[in-house]
Amino acid sequence: MSTTPLAGKRALVTGGSRGIGAEIVRRLTAGGAAVAFTYASSAADAEKLVADVAASGGTALAIRSDAGDPAQNVAAVEQTVRELGGLDVVVNNAAVVAIAAVEDYTADQYDRMIAVNVGSVFWTTQAAVPHLTDGGRIINIGSINADRVPGPGLSVYALTKGAVSSFTRGLARELGPRGITVNNVQPGPIDTDANPDDGGDFPESLKKIMPLGRYGHTTDVAAIVGFLAGRESGFVTGANWNVDGGFTV
Ligand code: NDP
Repeated sequence: MSTTPLAGKRALVTGGSRGIGAEIVRRLTAGGAAVAFTYASSAADAEKLVADVAASGGTALAIRSDAGDPAQNVAAVEQTVRELGGLDVVVNNAAVVAIAAVEDYTADQYDRMIAVNVGSVFWTTQAAVPHLTDGGRIINIGSINADRVPGPGLSVYALTKGAVSSFTRGLARELGPRGITVNNVQPGPIDTDANPDDGGDFPESLKKIMPLGRYGHTTDVAAIVGFLAGRESGFVTGANWNVDGGFTV
């Protein structure tokens, strides 16, 4: 089996400077793809990732682009196509989370969650579809909270990730005739800055409801994304891929 199954592929990952997105960039470039990724503010992390990938013989391109702004999402797609020479794989990963009871949610918090978590998936996808090669891949990073919300404060986050799951199905229907697959990876608790494993009572309460009893690693998610980006996943579309340690069991 080839060690570079993604050789020749061009990919865009939104929110790739840290956490799960950064691991996806590492995974896809290790597989031979050239990968552009966006970030909003973590310039130092983005530069380090580009350098690390280059040191391993890969190609990564960092693009500063606020996922909450429709025009910047479109510009990031256009820059990717221009600089990498085309587009085969899109990973919609960028998202934010604000935890609050529904009656305490501010208009700004709500608008930002919708703009980043839902808007970016839509605007990036809309701009990418005309450029995507037939047989291409769209991989959304949703959340297991679309299917199960074990505590208060996550209603709006769950709303946004439910939208990502539904959008995945509609898109799979539209793009199937071109051989483009669209899938939704739904992580459970994964150890990142957004959800640290050593964060106290919150992670401990989640581990108690999971059959595997532990947090996942960014590599657990990136491995599934790597599979979905490759040739062998070509008959899988419109599906939710739970990477969650059994969170919904
Ligand atoms: P992190 O907060 O650790 O990293 C988020 C990444 O997205 C960073 O690179 C950040 O870049 C980027 N980002 C955030 N906002 C924007 C923006 N407005 N524009 C561009 N880039 C942005 O998150 P995770 O790695 O934990 O999460 C990644 C994905 O996985 C998200 O979709 C999340 O909802 C999902 N997920 C995560 C789970 C977890 O337990 N960790 C569980 C379920 C789903 P910068 O620093 O520059 O802003």
